[in-house]
Amino acid sequence: GAVLALALAAGTGAALCWWLLEPRKRQTGGTVRQGVLDLIGNTPLVRVASLSEETGCEIWVKAEMLNPGGSVKDRVALQIVSEALADGRLRPGGLITEGTAGSTGVSLAMVAAAYGCRCSITMPDDAAIEKANMIQAYGASVRRVRPVSIVHPEHPVNVARREAASTPGALFADQFENEANFRAHLKTGEEIWQQTQGRVHAFVSGAGTGGTVAGVSTALKARNPRVRVFLVDPPGSSLFNKVKRGVMYTSEEAEGKRLKNPFDTITEGIGINRLTANFNRALIDDAFRGTDREAVEMAAYLLRNEGLWVGSSAAMNCVGAVKAARAMGPGHTIVTLLCDGGHRHLSKFHSKEYLESMDLAPRETDRSLAFVS
Ligand code: PMP
Repeated sequence: GAVLALALAAGTGAALCWWLLEPRKRQTGGTVRQGVLDLIGNTPLVRVASLSEETGCEIWVKAEMLNPGGSVKDRVALQIVSEALADGRLRPGGLITEGTAGSTGVSLAMVAAAYGCRCSITMPDDAAIEKANMIQAYGASVRRVRPVSIVHPEHPVNVARREAASTPGALFADQFENEANFRAHLKTGEEIWQQTQGRVHAFVSGAGTGGTVAGVSTALKARNPRVRVFLVDPPGSSLFNKVKRGVMYTSEEAEGKRLKNPFDTITEGIGINRLTANFNRALIDDAFRGTDREAVEMAAYLLRNEGLWVGSSAAMNCVGAVKAARAMGPGHTIVTLLCDGGHRHLSKFHSKEYLESMDLAPRETDRSLAFVS
């Protein structure tokens, strides 16, 4: 009896010692990350029960709002900056510039802070103010400019390009043309393949730079060429026409036709009227149009039925997932991204007053998806 008690006491003592000597493991439940940049990517894939039950498909979403900077753009900012640091185009302490509707600016500001670089962001003044505030909170500078076409010298992209050109050692992040963006999303696509264990029939996404749809489509089709890829395009964007009819307006034509102006859509981060290097790499089978009404109703639907609070492009992606489910028929697994959460959209997409002023306030409905046309 005494021997057994002694053995038990020794065993307990050893376990206690081990527990005390492994403080990092104990505090973090087994995972230690080296810093904020290690928290980027490897986001969970989440089943959306209500959409799945309504459509008869499995609808799964990558929770990109769980990235440390709050959006999918953390992946892109990390890839752009780490590639530039690796090949010497940027050094610690150097300046990073970008023209962006906001999310990429937040992510670049965060990555710059983590790497000890400086950051300067130019954004259109109609983008949600939350994003400008966050960029400043990370210590970056923000210039807000009147929304103008890409052919205009004061377009955020042109301002940011000039700023980098006139600053020694500065990097123009150039998310539209820099294919580090595409490369970041090869990993997003591979994550989807692993998380679904290869059982994914379709991927659907909106496009801003096109990096997401290009990287994910390339990665998934390399794994299985039969995976279908759908684009969902907001009002005022010409990517739908590009996919359906092969027609894309040049920047000058887009300007002439005034194809996209700030009043075309309230969604942020998606829709474009020029062909970018990143979008050029996308392998897209078919496209749907989405409306602002559909995006607003989907955001309300996800809140009501799932407690999921998402931004405008994420809501539009879910609209696209429902359209893909209907096009493919029941029994398919369809994946999309929740690009960001609702927090940074409180002043616009999630403002009751703003939506009412645009005649877009969501209507109280049941679980039905009748609002998706
Ligand atoms: N959603 C949000 C919130 C974004 O900022 C962006 C990027 N502009 C997108 C979607 C579109 O992604 P991509 O640029 O990869 O096409």
